[in-house]
Amino acid sequence: MSAKPAVLITGASTGIGAAYADRFARRGHDLVLVARSQDQLDALAARLRAEAGVAVDVLAADLADPSGLARVEQRLRDDAGIDVLVNNAGASLAGGFLDQSADDVGRLIALNVTALARLANAAAGRFARAGQGAIVNIGSVVGLTPEFAMAVYGGTKAFVLHFSQALAAEVGPKGVYVQAVLPAATRTDIWKKSGKDPDAIPGLMEVDDLVDAALAGFDAREGVSIPPLHDEGQWKAFEAARRAMIPGFSQAQPAPRYRAAGLAPA
Ligand code: NAP
Repeated sequence: MSAKPAVLITGASTGIGAAYADRFARRGHDLVLVARSQDQLDALAARLRAEAGVAVDVLAADLADPSGLARVEQRLRDDAGIDVLVNNAGASLAGGFLDQSADDVGRLIALNVTALARLANAAAGRFARAGQGAIVNIGSVVGLTPEFAMAVYGGTKAFVLHFSQALAAEVGPKGVYVQAVLPAATRTDIWKKSGKDPDAIPGLMEVDDLVDAALAGFDAREGVSIPPLHDEGQWKAFEAARRAMIPGFSQAQPAPRYRAAGLAPA
């Protein structure tokens, strides 16, 4: 058992989550790995125990299923050794909104939004009482890009960004660090699962580069980390423009453009 806090990582069987597991293990943290594929988790756990000498628990669970999700929530509430939650499990959907069934949409929201928020909820109270801990939420640049017309996936990732920033405003002063990580296209299985060829995507980032950059943001206690964005000034300008609107939201009267004849009661 490591003297460092343990890290619970969702979606740890492949891709970004597996790379986080590798990096946190090499930093000497014990791990709890969550995903549906027990065999892949067991194989990764065995490798990390052997290579990094840390303790690794496997918790196989379907986070889109309420009973699977409840088991992971319970672990986060009860296990005082876990100090870091990496909310990484997520999926995308093939096709456009008109091609997607209502059940597909519901399942994606259950995984990308409901599970992420419920797991953060299970961890945040304990972390805030302890005055320490970290919650890392994996969003996407698609959450900033409605032009991609990935309505449901992008909407779930816009939720992740807002949720992370608002949660940071609440629990940051209590000693809990919250990071939103916004990857762009990264080489993982998510592309094949949603019917796309990763090699056809320009500017595809390798998964280790993405996670190493996200961890540099984590070490710097950055609130929002966007590894592919080279011009950091663009994000700062975007945030400044958003914040500049806030005082203007407190208005008893609608804006003049909505008070033209016929638009508002006389
Ligand atoms: P990935 O290789 O497909 O990994 C997804 C992980 O989530 C797997 O470990 C998968 O394991 C797990 N998972 C999927 N459904 C689950 C469920 N119902 N319950 C529990 N675990 C489940 O994809 P990835 O690219 O690493 O994705 C990780 C995160 O990065 C996602 O949130 C994704 O939206 C985000 N992201 C990825 C990219 C990219 O280009 N790769 C870009 C932006 C954001 P099992 O199948 O074993 O359950």
